[in-house]
Amino acid sequence: MNALMGRMMQMPLLISALITHAARHHAETEIVSRLEDGRTHRYTYRDAELRSRQLAQALGRLGTEPGDRIATLAWNGHRHFEIYFGASGSGRVCHTINPRLFPEQITWIVNHAQDRVLCFDLSFLPLIEKIAPQLASVRHFVALCERAQMPGQTTLANLQCYEDLVGAEDGHYAWPSFDENTASGICYTSGTTGNPKGAVYSHRSTLLHALAASLPDTLNLSAQDTILPVVPMYHVNAWGIPYSAALVGCKLVLPGPHLDGQSLYELFEAEGVTMAAGVPTVWLAVLGHIQDKKLKFSTLQRLVFGGSAAPPSMMKTFQRDYGVDVIHCWGMTEMSPLGTFARLKNGQSALGEESQRRILQKQGRAIFGVDMAILGDDGQPLPWDGEQSGNLIVRGPWVIAQYFGHDDSPLIDVGGQRWFPTGDVATIDVYGGMQITDRSKDVIKSGGEWISSIELENIAMAHPAVHEAAVIGCKHPKWDERPLLVVVKKPGTEVTREALLDFFNGQIAKWQIPDDVAFVDEIPHTATGKIQKLTLRKQFADYRLPTA
Ligand code: ADP
Repeated sequence: MNALMGRMMQMPLLISALITHAARHHAETEIVSRLEDGRTHRYTYRDAELRSRQLAQALGRLGTEPGDRIATLAWNGHRHFEIYFGASGSGRVCHTINPRLFPEQITWIVNHAQDRVLCFDLSFLPLIEKIAPQLASVRHFVALCERAQMPGQTTLANLQCYEDLVGAEDGHYAWPSFDENTASGICYTSGTTGNPKGAVYSHRSTLLHALAASLPDTLNLSAQDTILPVVPMYHVNAWGIPYSAALVGCKLVLPGPHLDGQSLYELFEAEGVTMAAGVPTVWLAVLGHIQDKKLKFSTLQRLVFGGSAAPPSMMKTFQRDYGVDVIHCWGMTEMSPLGTFARLKNGQSALGEESQRRILQKQGRAIFGVDMAILGDDGQPLPWDGEQSGNLIVRGPWVIAQYFGHDDSPLIDVGGQRWFPTGDVATIDVYGGMQITDRSKDVIKSGGEWISSIELENIAMAHPAVHEAAVIGCKHPKWDERPLLVVVKKPGTEVTREALLDFFNGQIAKWQIPDDVAFVDEIPHTATGKIQKLTLRKQFADYRLPTA
């Protein structure tokens, strides 16, 4: 074919363009950070861009090269933000590490990624001192603090001060241009089974994701917004919010380690936050605080829920009692991470309140760029009827094709195309609304039928005495598995097992109602704030259901 070629400029999609744009066009817009010691740090995109360039220079002076991995163990804060742009923008790779993982896992990850520089917040000093002897690839340890805060005594040889490194440079640095497919960042999955696996993002995938994430039916970001990502910058780039924030030029508020309900609420109010994003457990804490203290939000317009299923009862409370729009989304590390958002389509706003709620409670429609399908056990695509559930597969320019350091491909062939199997089980309705019923390993198989643990949890969470609920499959001699409801009660409330089980009547088919309730003081969470079903299943491995 003799195609006519376009006559447009060839400009690689690079992360440096985001921060350069923000510094030029939103120079005076603020980035506010709460520091580890409780102080508030304020500066602007102009300052952040200059310091990112100084950091790029400093990384060169440390002897690192393009492609070298610059690791972070840090909270959401301005220095972490600078590493996102200074490391990636200069062709190095920003490797964010989740500090909530076990020390052995962190050691494994650093060694696997062959990190050259490790930058960390002071709260992680004891952890790093402990694992440092095993970190063979790391040449430089950098404390993210001022000179005056540098630890007097440390076992780390040659610990360097971030502010000294950055302060020594003049910022006369031009962002380099290179192939947009160059790696920009790495994030490892939490590896609940087996070793963690690294997703390697590229400049191109990150920019495309940032554009799509900012759209009205996605995060709906604008320069007028003030955004607070509670979702950590150490996990999937805080859902890409730092990049999207620079792209649209909104004010950015970074909460540091102060992630309890009260601290977050105070920050919302002090900085005029309009939008915040995080996992449901975080919003549970914020809701607990405002209900307790009888508070209201004065600027907050919307909350984004993702990472695990948003309980409909909590969504309703935020909407009805506090006038806050709740946006439910789904994604995963391997997808940069955003995949679907629950937003109304043209015509759907004319539907009644309950019908709208049902649409918005799902995980939602695919964002442009992400394609999805569900497969039956025979590997064939299932219809989008909102009823049949199957294994969810996805494809798109910000979905991984390979894990870091793995030669094999995780992709599967379906209909002549390559797809990534998400490990989630879902239904998709005729309008394209996807609903996760479970992770495939959490599905409860009762007498050959599947029971969705998420659906049962959502119902339990609506009970006024339930603070948190998790449903797991328990061994059963007749049915193979039956659901057990594990509940943390709200402080000061009482509820019996019978009353809770009764609460399910009429809300779900009788055979799906849990067989029993176990009351616990606490439900275990993963390093990313999700309910740790594996641990729960171990904890209740010998549990004998009354029906068994
Ligand atoms: P990790 O793999 O480290 O736990 P991820 O953030 O990559 O962290 O986890 C992705 C998984 O989280 C998804 O595959 C899905 O099972 C779950 N998940 C994410 N968002 C939602 C949601 N809105 N509802 C239900 N499950 C979700």
